[in-house]
Amino acid sequence: MAGERLVRPVRSLVRSIEEAEIGEQSLHDLVRHVPAEVAPLLYGLHVTHARLRRTLRQVEQDRAEVGAIFEHMGDSVLLLDAYERIVLSNPAAERMLRCTSPPLGRSLAEVARDADLVDLVRNVSDAGPLTRLIDFYPGVPSDAGDAVGERRWIQAVATRLPERRRLLVLQDISELRRAEVARRDFVANVSHELRTPVAALKALVETLEQGAIDDPVEGPRFLHLMHVEVDGLAQLVSELLDLARAEAGRLELRLAVCRADEMVREAAERIRPTAKQADLRLDVAIDPSDELWVCADSRRIGQVLSNLLGNATKFTPAAGRIEAGARRRGQRVELWVSDTGVGIEPEHLTRVFERFYKTDPSRARAAGTGTGLGLAIAKHLVLAHGGQIWVESHGPGRGSTFHFTLPAAPPDLVEE
Ligand code: ADP
Repeated sequence: MAGERLVRPVRSLVRSIEEAEIGEQSLHDLVRHVPAEVAPLLYGLHVTHARLRRTLRQVEQDRAEVGAIFEHMGDSVLLLDAYERIVLSNPAAERMLRCTSPPLGRSLAEVARDADLVDLVRNVSDAGPLTRLIDFYPGVPSDAGDAVGERRWIQAVATRLPERRRLLVLQDISELRRAEVARRDFVANVSHELRTPVAALKALVETLEQGAIDDPVEGPRFLHLMHVEVDGLAQLVSELLDLARAEAGRLELRLAVCRADEMVREAAERIRPTAKQADLRLDVAIDPSDELWVCADSRRIGQVLSNLLGNATKFTPAAGRIEAGARRRGQRVELWVSDTGVGIEPEHLTRVFERFYKTDPSRARAAGTGTGLGLAIAKHLVLAHGGQIWVESHGPGRGSTFHFTLPAAPPDLVEE
């Protein structure tokens, strides 16, 4: 009987523990019904149970956090078993390997189809992680349903885990590499652009030193040539600064409501003497009934127009024609500069906006002039205004037309 009196509350406690609902209140109830010797045991059980529950809750929370990190991290993670089968993968890995569903149970070789990656995983030992840069072509046509994807540069780190399992972490560093290559190209291009005028200046100074300075005809001629080179250098430096600012997103625009037709006319008047000298006809085409108010930094747009008009004069043979104009197109105003000059080959139409892009300089009126930066800067300036820029050409010898758009000023901002 005494045994039953002792066992019942213990059984009840066990049930409560099983149901995970033992609280302070139920504990006090239980304690009241047991002999005094059993009470400390009950308290002990209660404390242990509470501690266990706290620990479990913490473990669950930690697991949820790790799970969320695993799900959302940008790097790809794959866990492989001893047979190189994938036992765990995160969404980043599935995206990188272009799997339509988690590739669990499939072999790494089958999913990644990359011998270097498989080789890396096979070579990893307990000595420490192995890292390798992998030139990776993602895409398993049967899985992703389309052709092999774009080439990527992947930094892969394989680590050996207990039971011959392996952890593979893949980081896509293609953008970093592209930026690095672009930076290297940029430095090479700048050095090249600087070398030519500096070498010319050096040669001119040497010629002057060797006596040409006292020659009443040659002296001033060499000085003039030096002037031209120095002007070219100054332009290159100022364009480089503009481009650097634009690429760093630090182009300050002083936006105001202004008239596109005025900007076109002013730019045309600035270039008119040069065009005349080159025997080119220059027309401005504007429909006076068009609503041509825009939101723009007039100085910067003037710079874009001067660049386009400068190119048109440079790339159009004598007796040709240049036309500049503006017209309304819905919520935008389109400005254009067309010429009857040397034209641009179809495959170069988008490339002309790349920095340092120049076609054969012999096609230009003044060979060697130009830095190849003008259109890259023009593109940045137009994009910064929220517009677009593009070029059309019917091919070599058939002229070109450069167009760009600007947002039209809302009617309530326009003060006639
Ligand atoms: P550049 O200072 O060399 O003129 P740009 O960036 O302004 O640099 O132009 C890049 C290249 O685009 C030029 O070298 C030329 O090959 C081509 N280009 C630009 N405008 C014209 C044009 N109106 N007609 C033909 N080719 C052009």
